[in-house]
Amino acid sequence: MFIEPRVGNGREVPRRGWIEVVCGSMFSGKTEELIRRLNRAKIARQQVEIFKPALDTRYHEHDVVSHNANSIRSTPVALPQEMLLLASGCDVVGVDEAQFFDESLVDVCVQLANRGTRVIVAGLDMDYMGKPFGPVPALMAVAEYVTKVHAVCVRCGEIASYSFRIAASEDQILLGETDSYEARCRHCFLEGMKGKSPEAASVAAKH
Ligand code: ADP
Ligand code: MG
Repeated sequence: MFIEPRVGNGREVPRRGWIEVVCGSMFSGKTEELIRRLNRAKIARQQVEIFKPALDTRYHEHDVVSHNANSIRSTPVALPQEMLLLASGCDVVGVDEAQFFDESLVDVCVQLANRGTRVIVAGLDMDYMGKPFGPVPALMAVAEYVTKVHAVCVRCGEIASYSFRIAASEDQILLGETDSYEARCRHCFLEGMKGKSPEAASVAAKH
């Protein structure tokens, strides 16, 4: 389990920032882990602000909600830039569904960390084709701490790292739930891709 790093050595030191990334497939517990870390920061009486992309209102307009129904109040933002103003004075900033933001999220997180904020970002590392998703891979590169969490493959019970799309759409972004996606292991993901469109099948064939 991730334990917050201790900063400073007991003396008064200027606030120091860093970036944590929590990534994995759908249903892997990213939001749960994000909420756990943020709640601990709140218990430690730190000033916490949570953001999510304005386009993701699947579960709630304002709250970040996990699949096991934990939730925490958040502020929906259209652009990462908005976080710089809204998070001024915060000790900890949480971001969920990072994959839905554009690449500018990376620079915003770096700026926040540079000015002394602890930044915790959760997001999908791969899209439904198994390709790196949005700004998450670059965030993993600049983060001090990266935690990859896993779901359980609904086909065979193995560790799952892929979000297999059951729905027919081929858009990279399709907001959905258990009716649209399944957590799958590598083997069951590739098996499923073979039965899909020619493009999907070619992704599977490359492996
Ligand atoms: P994420 O944010 O990564 O999509 P959440 O934190 O919202 O995940 O939800 C994780 C929870 O989802 C688990 O604790 C479990 O209750 C539930 N869940 C549903 N399907 C699965 C699965 N295939 N593997 C693991 N957990 C699952
Ligand atoms: Mg989530």
